[in-house]
Amino acid sequence: MTVLALTGCAIFAGLVGAGLAGVTITVFLHRGLTHGAYRVSRPIYDVGRLMTFLTVFMRHWEWRLVHRKHHLYSDLWIDDVRHDPHSPILISERQGIDGFRRVAWHMAAIFHAAARSRDIRDGTYELAGDRALDWFDRYGFNRPVVGAMLTGTAYATAFALGAPDLLGLGRTPGSELLCVAGGLLALGVHVTVMLRFGGAINSDCHRGEEFVEGAGYAKNVGLLSFLIFGEGEHLTHHLHPELAQISARWDLGWRVITVLRRLRLTEVAVERG
Ligand SMILES: [Zn+2]
Ligand SMILES: [Zn+2]
Repeated sequence: MTVLALTGCAIFAGLVGAGLAGVTITVFLHRGLTHGAYRVSRPIYDVGRLMTFLTVFMRHWEWRLVHRKHHLYSDLWIDDVRHDPHSPILISERQGIDGFRRVAWHMAAIFHAAARSRDIRDGTYELAGDRALDWFDRYGFNRPVVGAMLTGTAYATAFALGAPDLLGLGRTPGSELLCVAGGLLALGVHVTVMLRFGGAINSDCHRGEEFVEGAGYAKNVGLLSFLIFGEGEHLTHHLHPELAQISARWDLGWRVITVLRRLRLTEVAVERG
């Protein structure tokens, strides 16, 4: 029974962590940093990149550039450099594997590989308003594995400190060890849920029937919109990346931006009609 309760706590904690990662991805990395749909003020930038380090475990500048490349070549292949870095259709055609499955589960590895491409490294997709990398980026946020280890340690420590009393386990070396395992399970849930829901945007939302210029095979998936904070309206987003509000319904990312606006931390460039 205790192990079951501990497992439940670990899954809950992991889901909270994945939710924080999802908000960081949609609000900071995607709508703000990549597309400039709202003004990324200094406090938002600093909190956003720290959250990216501690919850998304990717380099914020690589995410921004790889995603801009996706918009430029959505589901298109021109040559070895100029192509969509994570099109499930292209991966299926060119590698002879299930590209949708690959993108759905392996977005971090795909982004990491795409970031080594020449055009990502030489600044082809940089924009005038992008902030230059600073000391924190070069010596801290440049190490996503360290971010994952810190978060894993935080989960394990929180479980080791709090769970024995909370669950009436008593403090023995065995129970402490069990709680550390619970913390690691929380990290596993966090990473798995984050990767699958992040992957859904680029796999399930690119199963459209027809090719649309500038959007590839992007489509709107209503249920996913609810589950991934508005991002499921992916066709709308491809056609209007300048909108901070992607979905008229179920857009938690937009709710967060409206709170930031009320706190006078940002302004929105273009209002959704
Ligand atoms: Zn897309
Ligand atoms: Zn986008």
